Amino acid sequence: MAARKKEVYVFLMQLLLASLFGILTGHLLLSICILLAFLYFRQAREIHRFEKWIGHGGKGDYPKATGIWEEIYYHIYLLKKTDKRRKKKLRRMIKQFRQSTEALPDAAVVLNANDQIEWSNKTARDVLGLQLSDKGQRIPYLIRSPEFISYLNYGNYTDPVILPSPVNHRLILAVRIVAYGSGLRLLLAQDVTQLKKMETMRKDFVANVSHELRTPLTVLKGYLETVQDLDDGSSPLFTSSFKEMQGQTERMQHLVDDLLLLTRLETKQKKSACVNVPALLSQICKEGDALGNAGRRIELTLESGAHIYGEEQELRSAFTNLLGNALKYSPDDAPVKVRWYQSAATIVLAVEDFGEGISPIDIPRVTERFYRVEGKHRKKVPGTGLGLAIVKHVLMRHDARLEIASTPRKGSCFSCHFPIQRLCKP
Ligand code: ADP
Repeated sequence: MAARKKEVYVFLMQLLLASLFGILTGHLLLSICILLAFLYFRQAREIHRFEKWIGHGGKGDYPKATGIWEEIYYHIYLLKKTDKRRKKKLRRMIKQFRQSTEALPDAAVVLNANDQIEWSNKTARDVLGLQLSDKGQRIPYLIRSPEFISYLNYGNYTDPVILPSPVNHRLILAVRIVAYGSGLRLLLAQDVTQLKKMETMRKDFVANVSHELRTPLTVLKGYLETVQDLDDGSSPLFTSSFKEMQGQTERMQHLVDDLLLLTRLETKQKKSACVNVPALLSQICKEGDALGNAGRRIELTLESGAHIYGEEQELRSAFTNLLGNALKYSPDDAPVKVRWYQSAATIVLAVEDFGEGISPIDIPRVTERFYRVEGKHRKKVPGTGLGLAIVKHVLMRHDARLEIASTPRKGSCFSCHFPIQRLCKP
């Protein structure tokens, strides 16, 4: 501001002097024109010097100048200095970020909207077989696994996809994609070989133990039945002990059967055929009705005649578990409603009871293995805590989901939602 005022002041003084000189010599107009031409050429020279300096990137010290030009040079010099400092800081930050991502134990690859590689870290080059020169290449050309390509194109990015490493088939990777920015995606791959190995060991162990327990249990049950047949009732202690032993053996047999079923669900190849669900439900409900005191409490409503692709035995065991629970956890005289219906996007089986219900804290946990809700009367209700885990697994294998709506002391509704794509013609 001060410089501009000074500049105007100097100009006015020059104009005054030129006017005085013009009046004294009798050439006022000429004198003013000469002054203006002088000023014009001076400014043109300064603009030329400025353009030359800025054209060379404004490097080094700025040229010597006076008045407003000195002020302009000085401000540009300050701006450039701040800019240089900011760039240096940014470069340092990028370097630190790169060093930290290079040191990450997980593979990280940045992909653009066209699935082209923008950047990858060292682990990505090691486990995914990428090269530094692959920058700009489309990732589906480099990782050709069909599971990966369908995950990349249509995947639900909330869950990872499990793949063998393209460079070493013994390495198992959990690959996850995170979308960010405008169309950018970060691909992360974690080595889960050990985890998978342990999971396989756990599955094998449970399968082997359950299998090994099966035979001794059958023998034990057989002997108990024989001994019970021989019991003449003379000793109440013996009678009640044998009854208890038989009850516990039966419980253990259920447990072993459920564990074996779960193992099969985890390991067995999926097989699909058209299942007549209305007929299956009618049969299951009839069997449920036949369960003694549960007589005539089951109300089956078949609003849809839909048949779905699936595994009949698996569906039977899931539906039986849901119906069994509804009967177990509600009073003998309360109805249980079973409904098979179709909505716009799903085909639904709903099993509703008017029993004790489940508290909101327990709802997310009831599908965990061996989870049983603690309660006053619970010990009396037989169960293994594996039924809903089986239901969840069966539904997962049918691309379906389980929804649980429950209010304590009012009742529960367990619904299985099958995708419409599972629909088949009867
Ligand atoms: P369980 O063999 O104990 O029935 P499940 O896995 O089938 O095992 O169920 C887990 C727990 O969920 C049960 O112990 C029970 O507490 C609760 N539960 C399941 N179904 C119902 C229901 N219809 N009403 C109330 N509680 C239920």
